[in-house]
Amino acid sequence: MHQSPPPIQGPTTDSFWRSSPHSLDDHRTSQDVPPEVDICVIGAGFAGASTVHHILDICKSQGQPRPRILILEARQACSGATGRNGGHIKPDPCHRPSSLAATHGIKVAAECAAFEAQNLSAVKKFVEDEGIDCEFTLTRAVDAFMSDAVCDKVMASVDMLRRNHVPVMSDVHFAKGSDAEVLSGVKGAKGCISYSAGHLFPYKLTLQLLSRAIDAGVNLQTHTPVISVAADTDGFITVTTSRGSVKARTVVYATNAYTSSLLPEFAGKIIPVRGMCSHISPTKKPAPHLPSTYIIRWSDSNYDYLIPRLDSSIILGGARSIFYHDLDSWYNNVDDGQLIEAGKSHFDGYMQRVFSGWEDSGAYTSKLWTGNKANDIDWTVMGYSSDLMPFIGAVPGKKQQFIVAGFTGHGMPQIFLAAKGIASMIIDNADFKSTGIPTVYQVTCSRLDSKQNSVVQS
Ligand SMILES: Cc1cc2nc3c(=O)[nH]c(=O)nc-3n(C[C@H](O)[C@H](O)[C@H](O)COP(=O)(O)OP(=O)(O)OC[C@H]3O[C@@H](n4cnc5c(N)ncnc54)[C@H](O)[C@@H]3O)c2cc1C
Repeated sequence: MHQSPPPIQGPTTDSFWRSSPHSLDDHRTSQDVPPEVDICVIGAGFAGASTVHHILDICKSQGQPRPRILILEARQACSGATGRNGGHIKPDPCHRPSSLAATHGIKVAAECAAFEAQNLSAVKKFVEDEGIDCEFTLTRAVDAFMSDAVCDKVMASVDMLRRNHVPVMSDVHFAKGSDAEVLSGVKGAKGCISYSAGHLFPYKLTLQLLSRAIDAGVNLQTHTPVISVAADTDGFITVTTSRGSVKARTVVYATNAYTSSLLPEFAGKIIPVRGMCSHISPTKKPAPHLPSTYIIRWSDSNYDYLIPRLDSSIILGGARSIFYHDLDSWYNNVDDGQLIEAGKSHFDGYMQRVFSGWEDSGAYTSKLWTGNKANDIDWTVMGYSSDLMPFIGAVPGKKQQFIVAGFTGHGMPQIFLAAKGIASMIIDNADFKSTGIPTVYQVTCSRLDSKQNSVVQS
């Protein structure tokens, strides 16, 4: 498996979230990259920004002096997956845990599910306590099952997780048949589950984390790709960028799909995978109110997700049915310049086809961020992990180098507390086990040596 190329620079179809860039989008705190820092964080997405937030927070709460922190970002602030995702912060109480129970046992499944639920609460608390304006909304997620086979499989999973007393199941409601169609509002749904979830404006959240960090003295350098990282004999780590080098005591890779361009041991472990998302606007307002967020599950691997916004517009992502049969179009692919014309036809008319009451809404695809114009280069790239677990913790064999990446298209309900764990490993020298991050997420040599590739298998 080849290493990932570094993040691509170039024109792009920008996402709905990035329509009005923040004043820090192209920010450089100083004219040059500083010569020496304590901590260098590579990547200014949700993972990088959260790591810096927690480092500052721990230092503040312990009355410690703030370390000198530098954030290096190849492109604009929050221009990667975080600035282009669905904004769904949806802990998965059932689908992922039932797969994990089969592969890793019920204890691991319960631990991972609890971690996701804790992340939702932690983000909610942070946003409310600090008055972060990111349109955070606490809601119910509804997963609608569109065939009897999918519905029966989920029902069996729900039973199994309940029998095993997996705690998050106390928040799950299951409905079948006509009840499911009424509860979900999805035409033809054979069954559905509902559970607590949130949605937010991911770009606003991340830019506010970055803004607060800059106010606290952190140096952010956008449009500064890191080219290489090398340990020196004097205890420093030299980080070489397109604009000069910096010596750091500690390095954090919050580099998502592009990790293996800097850490070759992650080639084939964190794999760039393409995603697709759209913004749907109803012509007739007010459009029928949708009280929940949704996953419309057509089959085991084919689903769409949908987040109604408070202004009646919809964020709709997925469309796997139109490109997942063509492996090269989505797997190990960081250049989204190829057209996915079919994406538009999938999203156009989706609300009318799928949701009761939306037939006359006039809903249309007002934005589709997959590079649907010729010559566009799209950055809609997720970092899928070969064993479907994030890679978190110290990089084996690399002193004072940490990674928080590989969230497999499901980072929003995992990153905030994963980053908190990384921050305590750096500042308090905390042991991985004490951080509360699921043990199976720890980076180990055996995970890096494994030949397993669950992405293609699944
Ligand atoms: C279309 C789409 C929809 C999604 N929907 C959801 C969703 O609804 N819910 C959910 O939970 N997850 C979703 N995801 C996944 C989610 O967006 C990611 O898990 C999460 O944003 C990852 O955050 P991150 O900070 O790790 O990565 P990113 O936001 O990608 O940040 C990594 C940053 O590192 C920078 N970088 C990389 N290499 C270098 C280098 N060498 N030098 C300098 N900078 C570098 C990149 O430019 C990038 O800005 C979606 C993803 C996509 C693409």
